[in-house]
Amino acid sequence: MIKTRFAPSPTGYLHVGGARTALFCWLFSKKMGGKFVLRIEDTDLERSSEDSVQAILDGMRWLNLDFDEGPYFQTKRFDRYEAVIAQLIDQGDAYYCACSKQRLDDLRETQMAAKQKPRYDGLCRDLDLRPNSRLALVVRFKNPQLGVVTFTDHVKGEVSVQNAELDDLIIARSDGSPTYNLTVVVDDMDMDITHVIRGDDHVNNTPRQINILRALGATCPEYAHLPMILGDDGKRLSKRHGAVSVMQYFEDGYLPEAMLNYLVRLGWSHGDQEIFSRDEMIDHFSLDGINKSASSFNTEKLNWINQQYLMSQPLEQIIDLVKQRLQKTGVSFDGQVDFHSIVDLYRQRVSTINQLVESILYCFQEFDSYDDKAAKKALRPLALEPLNRLYAGLEELDDWSAGAIHEVIENITQELDVGMGKVGQPLRVAVTGSSFSPPIDKTVEIIGKPQTLSRISRAINYISTK
Ligand code: GLU
Repeated sequence: MIKTRFAPSPTGYLHVGGARTALFCWLFSKKMGGKFVLRIEDTDLERSSEDSVQAILDGMRWLNLDFDEGPYFQTKRFDRYEAVIAQLIDQGDAYYCACSKQRLDDLRETQMAAKQKPRYDGLCRDLDLRPNSRLALVVRFKNPQLGVVTFTDHVKGEVSVQNAELDDLIIARSDGSPTYNLTVVVDDMDMDITHVIRGDDHVNNTPRQINILRALGATCPEYAHLPMILGDDGKRLSKRHGAVSVMQYFEDGYLPEAMLNYLVRLGWSHGDQEIFSRDEMIDHFSLDGINKSASSFNTEKLNWINQQYLMSQPLEQIIDLVKQRLQKTGVSFDGQVDFHSIVDLYRQRVSTINQLVESILYCFQEFDSYDDKAAKKALRPLALEPLNRLYAGLEELDDWSAGAIHEVIENITQELDVGMGKVGQPLRVAVTGSSFSPPIDKTVEIIGKPQTLSRISRAINYISTK
């Protein structure tokens, strides 16, 4: 059975790169009818935090990336790591090392001066040291000295590294705690991971991990190392580029379906298809489709995809999100507002839920002030006559529907012998505060009669007292 794992270190948020790795692991397991494991690599006690664990879980839940096993926590598995370290020592594949920091620093300096790659020289490799109360010893893995480690990466193709290039890495610190390469190997082995899909910042660890796996007699998983994600300036994606935590995208009003769709295209393609439902992603996903070169994060494209989803997701879902956002911003909305009409009207015009909410706030609350430009252009003395007539005409209206409202506006344009803009635009700025809105008759219908009349008065007042 195929088994993948997502193995984040809980030292921050679930960032875009991590979420993409999780998605690819999840997709591959789904595609193959396998299992997906979540493993929290929290052995770095100083940098790991509960909050980060929660942030990772929140991010995965938001994106609806469900795991079949876990979350496993490495900090709960120290006994197991200790046992494996002991086993490696017993079978002669690991040894205690007493080299001091000073010696290692000196060694490094000498090697650097001689233009050699800094590496441990194996001084303690054959000394058969044993720990005692005076000496705090680290444990090193006895990396084979001859031969080549070769693996076929699903993205990078064949990767070969000479064992002579690899030194004896530390697998247990002097306090006995295991290091990253050891814990990963033990977990991948114990958890029967068949495919390791992870960022290519780990590709240099792979030959070392393969050697340890072999020493333990384990079957090596297959590997797929994902090229990194760059910001739009070509540099590695980081906080400098704006939001990096996926939950920030939730805060900013993106839909999880859109985010997932954006993420899947970040380094993977299937022909030139851009929009994928979850099922389509699973159907089409293959490790072969992963791009070999780095991909660039592009907010414009994310916005475009989000807009597609705003239009295509069930209206009820969008309304729920809009209501949640309104609530969060402390805006009260009563039963008066026809959410269906307004959200449907606006969702085609915005890229995010936040923009949508922003654009419709005028339906729920009086806006503070008119958009400067809009007021300068439309709320001039010339607009007094149309606004007065609108007030009178709309006040009389019993049938508060877009059709009837339209008729009132049109009659006034005829009476005054002016174009639609001369009446419609002052009305628009009067009721929405800005010069952009969906069709004005529909907008006025949604705002309702009392609000419309009071806002027309406000505009008349504004012009008269300027
Ligand atoms: N914990 C590692 C990280 O967050 C990933 C380890 C792995 O995937 O092998 O970078």
